[in-house]
Amino acid sequence: MDTPEPVNTESNTEPMVESTESLDIRDESLDCHECRSCGYVYDPTKGDSTGNIAAATAFDDLPPNWRCPVCSARKKAFANIGPVGAASGFKENLGFGLGVNTLTPGQKNILIFGSLLVGLIMMLSLYGLG
Ligand code: FE
Repeated sequence: MDTPEPVNTESNTEPMVESTESLDIRDESLDCHECRSCGYVYDPTKGDSTGNIAAATAFDDLPPNWRCPVCSARKKAFANIGPVGAASGFKENLGFGLGVNTLTPGQKNILIFGSLLVGLIMMLSLYGLG
């Protein structure tokens, strides 16, 4: 009669299971890899024309003797930077930069050129003061 039921165990484990599942679902074969030596980015949707790598070749499917076309670094020198259109740079650095580092390239363009446009409009509006 006085047996306490473990209520919280299920609700504690569920979110962790969901997060790992969503990581597994993500297609890692489309992830770009960045050379840590020179910054060259291998994009699997484009392949590597200098190394005769066809488009749609995942980074893991590249031959083991494949080298960076820019600086000839080995495959080990490359770091996974996520899919195309994701925030650029290494994942461990995304927490810095007042949140700007997590923006995608498109969002950064809107932020930069949008603020330039607003500044231009404000400068032109000074003519209205005369
Ligand atoms: Fe390189």
